[in-house]
Amino acid sequence: MIKGVNHIGIAVRSLQESVPLYRALGLEVSGGEEVPSEMVRVAFFSAGGTRIELLEATAPESPIAKFIATRGEGLHHICLEVDDIRATMAELAGQGFQLLSEEPKPGAHGTEVCFIHPRSAGGVLIELCQVGE
Ligand code: ZN
Repeated sequence: MIKGVNHIGIAVRSLQESVPLYRALGLEVSGGEEVPSEMVRVAFFSAGGTRIELLEATAPESPIAKFIATRGEGLHHICLEVDDIRATMAELAGQGFQLLSEEPKPGAHGTEVCFIHPRSAGGVLIELCQVGE
């Protein structure tokens, strides 16, 4: 079951340069960390009922570095929070959605995450996440 939009992910070249921009928009930083499994460093901003996640690559082979090289900075993914990520992955795979991993991966803030390829999702990269206990 989908519980809501957990966050919206935005690819940036540099957190140091982009964080002040989002602060200037009136958003407050609610956290930040490095996610080694995705080779990114992230900063989260509270935005009412949801959050905005800025993603900066930590390695040239990071998916974020590749995204910026081909499409530039900007909207990267939306994250839907689910109550049972394994059940959701099995259900969506059964419907023909192309999942980028067979098992959930560790995401930011102790979440488990899985991405759906934009090719099978109308051109939008969708992240599924299950928030830990
Ligand atoms: Zn995300």
